[in-house]
Amino acid sequence: SMASPALLMRVVASAYSVAEKAATIVRNVMSAGDLGIVEKAGPNDLQTKADRLVQMSICASLARKFPKVTIIGEEELPTGDVTEDLIEDGHCEEILKKPCPTQYTGIKEEELVIWVDPLDGTKEYTEGLLDHVTVLIGIAYGGKAIAGVINQPYYNYEAGANAALGRTIWGVVGMGAFGFQLSEAPAGKHIVVTTRSHSSALVNECITALNPDHVIRVGGAGNKVIQLIEGKASAYVFASPGCKKWDTCAPEAILHAVGGKITDIRGNSFQYNKEVKHMNSAGVLATLRNYDYYASRIPNTVKESLVP
Ligand code: AMP
Ligand code: MG
Ligand code: MG
Repeated sequence: SMASPALLMRVVASAYSVAEKAATIVRNVMSAGDLGIVEKAGPNDLQTKADRLVQMSICASLARKFPKVTIIGEEELPTGDVTEDLIEDGHCEEILKKPCPTQYTGIKEEELVIWVDPLDGTKEYTEGLLDHVTVLIGIAYGGKAIAGVINQPYYNYEAGANAALGRTIWGVVGMGAFGFQLSEAPAGKHIVVTTRSHSSALVNECITALNPDHVIRVGGAGNKVIQLIEGKASAYVFASPGCKKWDTCAPEAILHAVGGKITDIRGNSFQYNKEVKHMNSAGVLATLRNYDYYASRIPNTVKESLVP
């Protein structure tokens, strides 16, 4: 008989279904009309009812199935029981059927760290820029992002009533990434994607130094990595602290699964062990191709302004 699927594949298969449940919550909170907005650090650092409910749903659902896995979510929430209607216990059969990359077959529950951004692009969510929003579930082992799920609850929301609303992208390093069409950015053009709501003088100075043909300003770390893998942008450049480990873990795994690269602005890779500092203080530089082109053009003055 077939051996039972490796733990990593069971976690990814469950995270897929948990992220789809999360997307339903994100859409339901919006259509109910009461976002319950709370300011965290300030007016550009918001939390809504969707951020809260989705984090409870994801963390409780995964913890119930994988009790020894470390799960770290963005939102600080009161501890206590989560209502049963928030629990998702399903999984994606198609993912379970795929063989686990051999380097990950022996992983044990206590060796995994799951980084959860229940709603990435909250500012844009509150402003009705709905397709900027993603739900991010990143899976790390040995300090490295090795698998991830990105759900985009409002994918296709302007494509008409016949288009399927929402999608789930997932990937495992060494296996590939699925749920989207990998596309190359226009050859010979330098299209930079960056923040829309967290700009600064340094963010703009860095982009100007790259002399891009075009700059796309959109919300969300998940959304910006989607722009890279779908060929809409050639580099994600954010010369600022502000992104956290839950913003980059799932996008990093998916980007690496398709041959891309993500580091801080100084070229250091990110670590995802449970003890790590949450803030990516030295910013983000990510590409699907031609990483060195962009890395070599980041000014030293910008690098020196960002301390990891
Ligand atoms: P953005 O590209 O502005 O959408 O940011 C990507 C992610 O990093 C989002 O989760 C933001 O909330 C977070 N982020 C970036 N900069 C900041 C900041 N200055 N304050 C709070 N969160 C930030
Ligand atoms: Mg986020
Ligand atoms: Mg968030």
